[in-house]
Amino acid sequence: MTLPESIANDPKYAKRLLEIAEEKDIPKEWQGTPIESLILAHNFQKPITEVGKPKLLIAACIEFRYSLPVPRMYAYVIRRASGRLVGSEFSLAYVFAQGVKHIALIGHNDCGMTQVHANTPAMIEALIKQGWHKDRAEEYIRYQAARYSIEDEIDALKYEYIRLKRLFRDVCIAPFIVCLDNTNLYLPKWYEEIKDDPTIERNKVADEELLTLF
Ligand SMILES: [Zn+2]
Repeated sequence: MTLPESIANDPKYAKRLLEIAEEKDIPKEWQGTPIESLILAHNFQKPITEVGKPKLLIAACIEFRYSLPVPRMYAYVIRRASGRLVGSEFSLAYVFAQGVKHIALIGHNDCGMTQVHANTPAMIEALIKQGWHKDRAEEYIRYQAARYSIEDEIDALKYEYIRLKRLFRDVCIAPFIVCLDNTNLYLPKWYEEIKDDPTIERNKVADEELLTLF
């Protein structure tokens, strides 16, 4: 597997993302917060200092071509397929209970979860080799593939952002797409459009998944 070309040269992403090329491009609401530190580490090579207590939760895809520029004693990290936190709400409750007030939600280009359906036969086969019964492996993978599969990384990030805003109202959520080529964080353009939307908590996005929580 190789690294995809830079997001800046890929029309699928470039027009829908904003660069953070200078420190002044960092949205005001994140300045002076752990989100700003995370951006500085990614885009400006300013290392994060170890502080000894958890400052934020970082949610990212399991993607092996991306590694986080974060020291120990700084952040909780949940890495799951596509970076969605669906099914991790219990972990989030724990993280909030430790005083964390910021979440960085990091999607990336060329995500394997956009092609998960093509991979399901191999995934079913892999579970069968691990000793799973064929019917159980098929049922499990088909059900989960429908939850984790995404069509478009930027749209999926928006969906998850809204879902989390509906579920958790007293936490700052910062959505990013990380470019696998240079590890720079980019802002999705949709963030500026919806970040101050007072109706977001009534948005019907993810109704079905919210209901399955309870
Ligand atoms: Zn991915």
